[in-house]
Amino acid sequence: MYTLPNLPYEYDALEPVIDAETMKLHHTKHHQTYIDKLNVALESHPDLAAKTVEELISNLEAIPEAIRMAVRNHGGGHANHSLFWTLMAPVGSANYEGTSATKLIDENFGSLDEFKKQFSEQALSIFGSGWVWLVKGPDGQIAITKTSNQDSPLSTGAKPLLGLDVWEHAYYLKYQNRRADYLTAWFTIINWTRVSELIDKS
Ligand code: MN
Repeated sequence: MYTLPNLPYEYDALEPVIDAETMKLHHTKHHQTYIDKLNVALESHPDLAAKTVEELISNLEAIPEAIRMAVRNHGGGHANHSLFWTLMAPVGSANYEGTSATKLIDENFGSLDEFKKQFSEQALSIFGSGWVWLVKGPDGQIAITKTSNQDSPLSTGAKPLLGLDVWEHAYYLKYQNRRADYLTAWFTIINWTRVSELIDKS
């Protein structure tokens, strides 16, 4: 059985960028529902349920066709959200300067401002629900990509280094239709320490 991971901070820790009510609903309702539906899908597949969710979505071809879409959607939702919570930190708590993230972003995008610009363009261009990512591709190339629904970069062999949930449930209570404002604010709560750990492991 897959279970809901605790957040590494309190529900109100990301205020005022993300309000406590949004965090609580997002974690206890949305994320929990992906887990519940993943567990149902794998009820009669104990061999698969013994794997990590990242293993499952990294090899969707190995999932029986009858449950492949459920694992893709709900397993993706579980993996994406489990990662997402760790990618954020209270304002001012995670330094950017002098980290592996600084080096990677300078080398690949020239500057943090240019990275934010390109990341925002991708996020704003998502039609419907999805995620925008900074990934290391299977070829080792660093890129900004987007996925629809709860698809994970892991399913295409890429390693996520940073990801942003751009489903409306992630921001609608506070930002309504102002996705650009959500983005601008979200850049101030990125946990660069965690991003750097992922870069170092990639
Ligand atoms: Mn979400």
